Amino acid sequence: MKEKNYLFGVDVGGTTIKLGLFTKDGKLLDQWQIDTNTDHQGAGLLPDIAETVTGKMAEKRLRVDGVAGIGLGVPGAVKDSSYVAPCANLNQWGGFNAADALSKLCGLPVRVINDANAAGLGEFWQGGAKGMENAVFITLGTGVGSSVIADGRLIVGAHGAGGEIGHMKINPAETIACGCGGFGCLEQYASATGMVRAANDLLAGTNGASALRRLPKVTCKDVFDCARSGDHLSILLVNRYADTLARGLSIVSCVVNPDVFVLGGGVSAAGAFLIDKVKQAFQLYAFPPTRGTQIKLAELGSDAGIYGAARLIL
Ligand SMILES: [Zn+2]
Repeated sequence: MKEKNYLFGVDVGGTTIKLGLFTKDGKLLDQWQIDTNTDHQGAGLLPDIAETVTGKMAEKRLRVDGVAGIGLGVPGAVKDSSYVAPCANLNQWGGFNAADALSKLCGLPVRVINDANAAGLGEFWQGGAKGMENAVFITLGTGVGSSVIADGRLIVGAHGAGGEIGHMKINPAETIACGCGGFGCLEQYASATGMVRAANDLLAGTNGASALRRLPKVTCKDVFDCARSGDHLSILLVNRYADTLARGLSIVSCVVNPDVFVLGGGVSAAGAFLIDKVKQAFQLYAFPPTRGTQIKLAELGSDAGIYGAARLIL
């Protein structure tokens, strides 16, 4: 029997579908993307994926018996690596067993994973947490996504909500609701959106001079840029941001005790400037046995999702 040496990783986003062809040992041989067609509740989504995957197999002269399968990352809740709940970002595509449906179309085994978990699994396989058995991956973007790998296994949990660090309640005094309906979630402070809200609140509540006041509309990146060039209010905002995030990480470290926290997403583009502050603050809050936990930047960027989806097949 021929060995199945190849894997496909697919990352379905609201506007594009990213695809990658991998070897079993994690080498990315080829990557490409197609548009996401969400018309008619995404009826063409799986046929489009099947078509482009079979097209790539023909191009690379790969036979079905040489490919281990397709990992499919989707922006929604996934049950049993197969059933996908309707996805808000995909015009309510979902509500069925997507693994079976795609498998029927292309004749390959398929497993499905939530996209945040795929990104975490990707960093665990070939990125910032490579070679480690316990890792927490956090995407700091518009929201805060996260995934937890404990003893080499991705934590999914009873309701698929395992590792949703962004919705830990860390501020009982919060009066504005989080997207989840709760109050005081980590996401409300550690997301880019949270940083912008904090900046606007601080600017409105003080008279202090700040380069931020000269901007028509403050973005999270503006705050980091201004902090870097010494703007006092911006430094205060970044310090508070790092402090809150570190406090969240210290809580997680009591439960998971990971080798590493890997930080990705748009906010992490602030790089060492952010990481160093988070590391410092983490030392203040961490339960003593967890103080040695590494805090690192993600390494795979927006490719993490295809890596993790492919890894799911192994
Ligand atoms: Zn929440």
